[in-house]
Amino acid sequence: EFVVGVDLGGTKIAAALFDSEGQLLNREQMETAGAQTAEEVVGRITAMIRSVSGGHPLRGVGMASPGTVNSREGIVIHGTNLPEWTNVPLKAWMERELHTEVQVLNDANAAAWGEYVRGAGRGSTNMVYVTLSTGIGSGIVLDGKLFLGSNSFAGELGHHIIDPSGPRCNCGSHGCWEVFASGTAIGHAASQRMLDQPSVIRELAAADGGVNAKHVFEAKRLQDPVAVEVIDRAIYYMALGLVNVIHSFNPDRIVIGGGVSRAGELLFPQLREMTDKLVMPSYLGTYEIVPAGLRDDVGLVGAAALFR
Ligand code: ADP
Ligand code: ZN
Repeated sequence: EFVVGVDLGGTKIAAALFDSEGQLLNREQMETAGAQTAEEVVGRITAMIRSVSGGHPLRGVGMASPGTVNSREGIVIHGTNLPEWTNVPLKAWMERELHTEVQVLNDANAAAWGEYVRGAGRGSTNMVYVTLSTGIGSGIVLDGKLFLGSNSFAGELGHHIIDPSGPRCNCGSHGCWEVFASGTAIGHAASQRMLDQPSVIRELAAADGGVNAKHVFEAKRLQDPVAVEVIDRAIYYMALGLVNVIHSFNPDRIVIGGGVSRAGELLFPQLREMTDKLVMPSYLGTYEIVPAGLRDDVGLVGAAALFR
């Protein structure tokens, strides 16, 4: 019983073959750029799946796609990193080519399931996964099951509105959680703050051609005042969003992934402390906030684990 997981990223597409124990046997990836239409991309993905499975009979193929996904019908309604992707019937096309069952999930939901089954969510019952990345993505596991909602659109916690008078978000609303607490938000806030006050962040960022959250955390380690101020504020907003999550779902575990989670000890102790400070007292001690256990392949691991 073999399963293939596929992660359809904006920059790369990765596929991996797993055995029935969830052991990764083989992995391949390719650049997304170059193929223009959805049909071309799907053609390349099916070729990659055939290649990675090396003739093993497949029980199914799980796919993680960015953007809005109708998981019941396996249609990518709108792929955010894939400009040509609107209403692509991925499941139908791929099943026709591969003659095996295909499941399609939004990438954050797939990552949540991956962390739950194989990563830092193992052993929990109610888990919320939050990825602090370019934006904020999330997925929700309730009573041991991935919660997708009526249309499989559930889990857009990054677009919880934290402050309606806040800056505009890519989604069109104002003051979404990700506008205040994503990696992008941290980079922007530091750039703005540096207009009035010099900071070591500028030197750290010089080599990379622009300020991002990583530089701001590095500068915080050096006790740079701008970095300390920007990170304190971002962590306040991260915690505010987590408190909404805790009050909504009463999770026993919150797993934090994405690039920003790599800040590690510069992030987690302070995030836990701030969350404890803002949460309703009766919830204290009911949740853990832990870093993700899997890294880049979390989406395809989770998509494949749909067939476990
Ligand atoms: P994507 O959104 O493309 O999936 P990532 O999950 O890697 O990408 O998130 C990118 C964000 O993570 C950027 O804002 C980047 O600055 C930030 N980031 C990457 N590494 C670190 C780090 N070590 N510490 C803090 N932030 C980081
Ligand atoms: Zn939004």
